[in-house]
Amino acid sequence: MTATQHVNDELFAKAKQAIPGGVNSPVRAYGSVGGTPRFLVRAEGAHVYDADGTEYVDLVASWGPAILGHAEPTVVKAVQDAAALGLSFGASTPDETELAELVEQRVSAVEKLRLVSTGTEATMTAIRLARGFTGRDLLIKFAGHYHGHSDGLLAAAGSGVATMALPGSAGVPSPIAAQTFVLPYNDIDAVRAAFAEHGDRIAGIIVEAAAANMGVLAPKPGYNAALASIAHEHGALLILDEVLTGFRVSSGGYWTLSNEQGPAYQPDLFTFGKVIGGGMPVAALGGRADVMEHLAPTGPVYQAGTLSGNPVAMAAGIATLQGATPAVYAHLDRTADVLAAEVSSALEHEGVAHTVQRAGNLFSFAFTDEAPVDYADVQAQDAWRYPPFFHAMLAAGVALPPSVFEAWFVTAAHDDAAVNRIVDALPAAARAAASASAS
Ligand code: PLP
Repeated sequence: MTATQHVNDELFAKAKQAIPGGVNSPVRAYGSVGGTPRFLVRAEGAHVYDADGTEYVDLVASWGPAILGHAEPTVVKAVQDAAALGLSFGASTPDETELAELVEQRVSAVEKLRLVSTGTEATMTAIRLARGFTGRDLLIKFAGHYHGHSDGLLAAAGSGVATMALPGSAGVPSPIAAQTFVLPYNDIDAVRAAFAEHGDRIAGIIVEAAAANMGVLAPKPGYNAALASIAHEHGALLILDEVLTGFRVSSGGYWTLSNEQGPAYQPDLFTFGKVIGGGMPVAALGGRADVMEHLAPTGPVYQAGTLSGNPVAMAAGIATLQGATPAVYAHLDRTADVLAAEVSSALEHEGVAHTVQRAGNLFSFAFTDEAPVDYADVQAQDAWRYPPFFHAMLAAGVALPPSVFEAWFVTAAHDDAAVNRIVDALPAAARAAASASAS
């Protein structure tokens, strides 16, 4: 056993005494890859450091927020300056308006924005708002899409639940689960059929702008636009969940990126998180002004938060969005292109069947011959090839997401040296994937 494993083992054992499963978010427990999670104590640029001081090139980026790289100096300075003026006021601040305006400039369909603290709160509130606005109860979501952990959204929710091989979650009353239809992704006929039968009772459709919680799985061309038009034909709303993709795959997100490439469509509501806070707890919902005005205090749909619009978090979000320039997005795109090609060629070299999954600069790999289109396809892959691949990379100092059902995240700080270190680690990892067995 190396010293690093020893320190992390001890910390994990201690954490398990105090915290359920030793973690505060299940995927961190390494459940699907096995082994001991690394306990991190520092992060800078493209690197994270564990409690033993071991350095890893990081492709998790805090699951997205660290788009400029970890501890980016202008973001850290903005946070320090804001903290010195007070940690939380529980009152309005000028920075809340500034962050809302930055979002509205980047995503033209967002006319009004409400700031909250987590993506879970954003989607939960967007759904309540869609129900309050339409006066209807039912909701459509798609298998393998994750929208946070509020009741009713955990059915076939991809990501953490897929990693843990759970069908959904205990503790969700069946009458609540029954308000949500879970349909197969990328199958527009299934959506038409649901609306044909229940159209006047459906408040809305919630969809990840591009699925990225079952690995990356982009919508078929025109799919999101078709969802918008079906919803609107029936007086329902389209909620585009850009918590993961927003401000990451382009200056706006997947909607702005895909409008450049396919038919334009108009979601009614968007949800954001991750990059919008640059590593601090910030998320938001926004969209049509007439819908958003249904939120309290102007409307009857209640939502509130002690720490909503927190001044330190606002400073991080503003500095992050200001730093996320066109040059940053060009760098992320190039880096994603290089890494996706290098991983693919290493796997190819070892004869490992795989597909490269892309949505802008987000990418992942599915261990299968045929490009998946839905959750069933993703679940049918040779997922058992991932743990040995993951651990070979980790041993070489590269921290990948600890689940095959997660996206890989690059940052502005992934320079040639970081990329080369990842590329150097690939041949051994591909060999490990090739020699894995299903048992
Ligand atoms: N929506 C999507 C698409 C997500 O990827 C996530 C988190 O990964 C959420 C919602 C929930 O966000 P949070 O973890 O901040 O509650």
